[in-house]
Order: sequence, then C-alpha cells, then structure tokens
Amino acid sequence: MTPVPADLLVTNVTIAAPSTGWSPMVGWLACRDGVIAALGTSAEIAPRATKTIDGDGGLVLPGLRNAHTHGSEILARGTADGLDLGDWLAAVWPRLDGLTPEQMAVAVRFGALLSIRCGITSIVDHLRRNPMSDEVIEAAAAAYEQVGMRALMAVMVRDRVGANNRAVGAGHLSGLEPAHRQLERIAAAAQKLASDRIAIGIGPSASLRCTDEMLSGVASLSRVSGLPIHVHAAETVDEVADEQRDFGMTSFERMERLGMLGERTACAHCVWLKPQDIDILAASGSVAVHNPVSNLRLKSGVADVPALLAAGVKVAVGTDGAASNDGVDVWEALKFAALLPRRNGETAAVPDSVALLDMVTTTGATALGGHGVPFEIGAPADFCLYPAAEAPLTDDANSFAAALVLSGPRRPSYVAIGGALVLERGAFVHIDEAETVRQARHLARELMA
Ligand SMILES: [Zn+2]
Repeated sequence: MTPVPADLLVTNVTIAAPSTGWSPMVGWLACRDGVIAALGTSAEIAPRATKTIDGDGGLVLPGLRNAHTHGSEILARGTADGLDLGDWLAAVWPRLDGLTPEQMAVAVRFGALLSIRCGITSIVDHLRRNPMSDEVIEAAAAAYEQVGMRALMAVMVRDRVGANNRAVGAGHLSGLEPAHRQLERIAAAAQKLASDRIAIGIGPSASLRCTDEMLSGVASLSRVSGLPIHVHAAETVDEVADEQRDFGMTSFERMERLGMLGERTACAHCVWLKPQDIDILAASGSVAVHNPVSNLRLKSGVADVPALLAAGVKVAVGTDGAASNDGVDVWEALKFAALLPRRNGETAAVPDSVALLDMVTTTGATALGGHGVPFEIGAPADFCLYPAAEAPLTDDANSFAAALVLSGPRRPSYVAIGGALVLERGAFVHIDEAETVRQARHLARELMA
C-alpha cells in the first residue's frame, strides 16, 4: 500500500524545538492534517508531500507565543513616552476605548501582521474596549481568522474604580454594565466564536478594578465553561498598596480566596509580590507572564523571575500592549528577560537559555489556555522558517540556545499555522500587506491627532 503523502514538507533545514531540548537537528519536517506528522534527520528519507518547500539551509523554529498584549494598542506606539502607568493610561486609552468594530479589525490585522513578521503564531489579546460590545469582539475574532493567526481573546471586564482612578476617572465607569452582564457577553462570545484558531477567555483588568462579585463570577464562569482567565496582577507598587488598603490583603490572596487561581489562569506582570504571593502562585499552578519591556517603559519595576522559577512558578513572556513596548517583538522581550537578572552583578540563578526558550513556546502555550509541548509529533504545525543567515552559526547546543535568546532570528520567510501557510516567500497569503499598513496608518493618525 502506498503511504499517505504529507500535506507539507520542509526539507534542508536546521530544526530546534522544546522536544529536542533546543539542540539543532539538520533534516526535514512533514505536516499532515494540520499537525506535525514526522521529523527526520538528513540521513532519513522524507515522505512524499503535496507541497514541498526547500528550506535552503534555513532555520525552523516553533511559532512563538506572546502571552500578554492588547491588540488595539498597536495604533499608539510611541505615545506618552516617559509617563508611569497611571498617567499613561489617561493619555492613551481615551483614544482607543471608542474603537468601532471596523477600526478594531484594522488594528488587529496590523498587529497580527507585525506579530507574524516577528515569528509569533499565537497571542493573548487582553481585549479592551469601553464599553465592550459584541460587535467589537466579533470583528476582532474575524480579523485574526482572516490573517490565519491563533489568538486567545481574553475579553476585559471591570466594575470598580481602583488605584488608577486618577487615570480612568469616575466618568470612565459610567458606561460599564453590571458584572453578570459582562460575563454573559463572554460566555455568549465563546459559544459563537471559538474555533480552531480563536479561543475566548475571561479578562479581569486587575483584581483591584473588580468587585468581589465580579471576581467570584469570573471564577465560576471559568469553572463551568473551562474558559481561561487572564488578569493583570501586582503591576505597580501603588496598586499593591491600594489593594492592601481597600481589601486588607494582596491581589493573590484575594484571587485565591475567591477561587480565581488555578491552571487555567495567567497573571500578567507579577512585579510586586510578597513571599506569600509567590507561594500561592506556585501552589495554584497559575502562569506568571513576565513583561520586562513594558514594565521598564512605564517605570513599574522588574519582576523577580529567578525567584518565581526557584519556587516552581510557571513563567511565560509577553510584550504587553504595543503602546507600552513599543512593538510586538517577543524575541526582544526574551532578551530583556535574560539580561535583567544580571543588572546588578548578581551571580545567582540566572534563567538558562533553554528555560527562557521554553517560556515563549511551551509555557506560552499554557498561558494561552492550551497544553502540551509545541512541535512534538501530533502537535499543531505552527512553525516559522527563517533564512539561513538568521540561524546561529554554531552547532554547540548551549551556544545555539543562547544565540537564539540573545540574538533571536527575525523576519521569517515562511510561517505556517495549523499546517497552513500564512506567510510564503515573505508575502502574506491572506491579506494585502500594503493595504493593511495604509489603513492602520490612516486610523492611527486620526485617533492620535
Ligand atoms: Zn497589559
């Protein structure tokens, strides 16, 4: 019997992935029905395939996961530089909170385009718009689907003025619906929009900006529906102090008490943690999402990632929104994650390169609500092929992994998501790049004028 051919075969490449411990392997990969069907060395015979790409000595890596961003902020790069979180929120978000569905779609398409150009195949879009609307959620989902990108859209909810009320103002809350209505909207969106590419999550802005009723409702919806939770936590020292003042406990103590923490929950930032918060995070199995660039840009602080890792906390990496980054480049965030622990000459427990690479792939996938190791046989075929010049020159495993972290490859020439090419020979398959950029530029100038 003739063996079933692969749908897509990539030959003549160096492959590095979590499943190989990030050691480079020269060979080929085959995809069938959207998943990695086989990997082989150059000495092994590759299967026949419907479509074959000669990788020409290039580098194949799993698609990166950006575990925390806000899609619409891509329109506001460079805005309000030098401000801290509170003042920055006041400067940026009034311009973005009123996006129409069509405008949200423009932002999402442009952000997805830039993400794929950076080698990212999946993101958490902590989706903010105020007031939220069904149409905006649907437009964002349709835009990700159009590009062919995976997204966990964690729809933002909040029902309380918190530490940044100087930024958000009482009037900012006037359009917000009651907690139960906000959560019903998310449950309905999950029913309607969840697909192979799109997942819907529950996105409390931060525990400080939610009542107990809202946080309990978030926990209960997640328990009943299995939807992931994505929340900002302990981002600034002011927020932590305000939560202590208003509730007599830390954000993590409060979230744990209200049932919000667990393996489906990811907490962005985790900069200002008390020792008990680290214990709670580790025991709960929740993911901490490190956003080193944004935390520096907004003067929030530096998360103690070595302490989190030492306690057994799962750590992923995000860029945060592009208005506080000012891009979507996870390779850049990873380099900051590697170097920040060395800033004062510390010699203790700097995360090694393999652990760092896992943060933007395996743990990143967990933060996106999925599990498993990317790039194993049977895993979704989400990968990037970079030109040969982008690949590390060494074949020493340690140096190879370090070179990826410190000098990550840019500008893939091919990107496949679920075994389907979304970027081919450097060109987008499903969207017109020039038109996408033109629309984003026009809209950004209109909004930021
Ligand atoms: Zn954020």
